[in-house]
Amino acid sequence: MKDFIEFVNEHELGKIRENVSFKQLTSLKIGGTARCLYEPNSLDNLMIAYKYLKNRQIPTYAIGNGTNLLVSDDRFDLVLIKLTKCNGFKPLSEGRFMMEAGCQSGTVGRIIAKLGYSGSAFMGVIPGTVGGLIYMNSGAYKKEVADFLYQCDYLDAKGDLVSLTEGFNFGYRESIFQSIDCLIIRGFFKFPLAPKGEEPYQTINRYLELKRNTQPLNERNAGSVFRNPPHIHAWEIIDALGYRGFSVGDAGVSMKHANFLVNKGNATFEEMAKLVELIQTDAKKYYNIDLKCEWKILKKL
Ligand SMILES: Cc1cc2nc3c(=O)[nH]c(=O)nc-3n(C[C@H](O)[C@H](O)[C@H](O)COP(=O)(O)OP(=O)(O)OC[C@H]3O[C@@H](n4cnc5c(N)ncnc54)[C@H](O)[C@@H]3O)c2cc1C
Repeated sequence: MKDFIEFVNEHELGKIRENVSFKQLTSLKIGGTARCLYEPNSLDNLMIAYKYLKNRQIPTYAIGNGTNLLVSDDRFDLVLIKLTKCNGFKPLSEGRFMMEAGCQSGTVGRIIAKLGYSGSAFMGVIPGTVGGLIYMNSGAYKKEVADFLYQCDYLDAKGDLVSLTEGFNFGYRESIFQSIDCLIIRGFFKFPLAPKGEEPYQTINRYLELKRNTQPLNERNAGSVFRNPPHIHAWEIIDALGYRGFSVGDAGVSMKHANFLVNKGNATFEEMAKLVELIQTDAKKYYNIDLKCEWKILKKL
C-alpha cells in the first residue's frame, strides 16, 4: 500500500488520503475506515494506477456518492477509488452523450433536459454518480439506465479497458457489473428529442417536488432499502407490519416513508443491519414475502 501511495504521488496520478472514514463518504454516515482513498485526476492516470493495483493484487472498491451503501464499522485494508475528477461530459451526435463515471447524475440529467431531450428526468432526481447509476441500473418514475445506455467502458480484473455494447444483463437494480470485477469509467447514453409540447426540465422539477413531499430527504438515508416485490410496494408491507417509526438504537424506519431507513444520530452498522433483518424476517413470517435489500452492503468477510 505504501508503494502505491508513493507511485501515485511520484507520477502525479491524483490525490491520495489515508485512513478515511466511511461516515464522510456515505449518505447514511455509517461505517469504519478505508486504509486509502484514491481520487485520480484523469481517466488516463486512473488506468495507469489501476493497472499497478491489479498487477499487485491490491484490493480495491469503487465508491461514487455513497448514496446506496451501508458499510460495516471495520477498518478496510483496501484502496477506495472515487472518480470525483473523472467527470467529463460530452454531447455527441443525435442525442448521444458520453459521461465519465464521476459525473453527478443530477447535473447531467438537467443538462440533457435543458438541451431538449426526453427521458433524463430520472437522472435529474437521483443523488448518485453515473458510475453508481450504471452499476445499480438505477431508475425512477418508470425510467432506468437500461432504457438509454448503449455502451459502457470499464476496467476489468487485469486493469484492461473493455467496451461493452451488449449483454448488460439489466434487471430491477441489477446489471452484469455486479457480477464481474470491474471499475466503470464511462457510459454512452442516447436520448430521444422531446416531442413538441413536452418540457423535460419541468418534468424534473415535478419529480423533485414529488420526492420532497414523500421522502425524508433531510435525514441521513440511502434511498429505498428494499426492492418492491411484484404487485405490492415494500413500504406497504413494512407499514402493515407496524414498523413505521420503529427504531433499533439510532437506526430507524422513517415516519415519512416506511421503505426509507434513517440514521437518527450515531447509528452503527449492527443497529442498521439488525433493523433490516427484523423487517425481512417478519415479512417472510407474516406475508411469506422475501424482501430483497436494494442497498449494497460492504463488510469484512
Ligand atoms: C435521498 C435518496 C434518493 C434516492 N432515490 C433513488 C431513486 O429514485 N432511484 C434509484 O434507483 N436510486 C435512488 N437512490 C439510491 C442511489 O442514489 C442510487 O443507487 C445511485 O445510483 C447510487 O450512486 P452512487 O454514486 O451514490 O453509488 P454508491 O452508493 O457510491 O455505490 C453503489 C454501488 O455501486 C458501485 N459503484 C459505484 N461507482 C462505481 C464505478 N465507477 N464502477 C464500479 N462500481 C461502482 C459501488 O461499489 C457500490 O457497490 C436514492 C438515494 C438517496 C440517498
